[in-house]
Amino acid sequence: MEQSIERYIKNLVRDVIGQTLGELQLQSDRQTYVIANWKMNKTLNETAEFFQNISSSQDVSVVICPPAQLLYPAHLFIKQSGKPIGLGGQNVHWTDKGAFTGETSARMLMDVGCEYVIIGHSERRQYSFEDDELVNKKVKQALKSGLTPIICIGETLGQKNAMQTEQVLSKQLFGALTDIDSSQFILAYEPVWAIGTGQSATAELAQETHAYIRSVLKQILGQKAENVSILYGGSANENNAAEYHAMPDIDGVLVGGASLDAKVFDAIINVFAKGEQNS
Ligand code: PEP
Repeated sequence: MEQSIERYIKNLVRDVIGQTLGELQLQSDRQTYVIANWKMNKTLNETAEFFQNISSSQDVSVVICPPAQLLYPAHLFIKQSGKPIGLGGQNVHWTDKGAFTGETSARMLMDVGCEYVIIGHSERRQYSFEDDELVNKKVKQALKSGLTPIICIGETLGQKNAMQTEQVLSKQLFGALTDIDSSQFILAYEPVWAIGTGQSATAELAQETHAYIRSVLKQILGQKAENVSILYGGSANENNAAEYHAMPDIDGVLVGGASLDAKVFDAIINVFAKGEQNS
């Protein structure tokens, strides 16, 4: 909690300074993240076991996003462990409360210890038909409530083959960030063709795409875009993590399948905890 207050204040100061000094180049001090998206996996016992076997680091922000039913026990397990591990939801509703069966509000997430929430994951875009407009509403709701949104964007294989990657990412970014002036969010570039397929993007391709994403963010947010951590997601694992870590515009990873095994996830955390990446 203290870490998140410190980060909030740091970001706020950067936002204010960025606005005041306009285009003046500010030294970037982006946070590195290793984030687990458990999707619809794990029981209570498996969650307890995971937190017994996971380590943490001062050099990297570790965030676990379990399914909604496991958020509160996960919060208690984290507290019990005394490790600086953040907790995030996998989805949030865009309104405060009401007749929305099966949904979870931002207040509910915060009430059970969440500081983060994944928004616009490609699986939700696909199965729950979330579009950029809805993603934008959810991002606004998360920011208003004090949650840090982890906004997911990415192109499908068809769009990649049709050379539409930049066009798709630009549309998703402008859509998700409509009328938003804050840089207090995390972005995850998750090419849909790489998610759960074992076909991870090469570190070079991911770096090139992250640099493009940052250039679009600069159009939207100006110099504040330098503050936004951009994570890679899509079959990231303990074997390819070091290649992503070596890239200047890759500020961490969002991990699905490889986050379910505490030992494997630990190995990924250790890669990002080692040394300085961004030159
Ligand atoms: C994800 O779904 O966010 C993800 C990155 O999944 P995986 O690591 O399994 O490709």
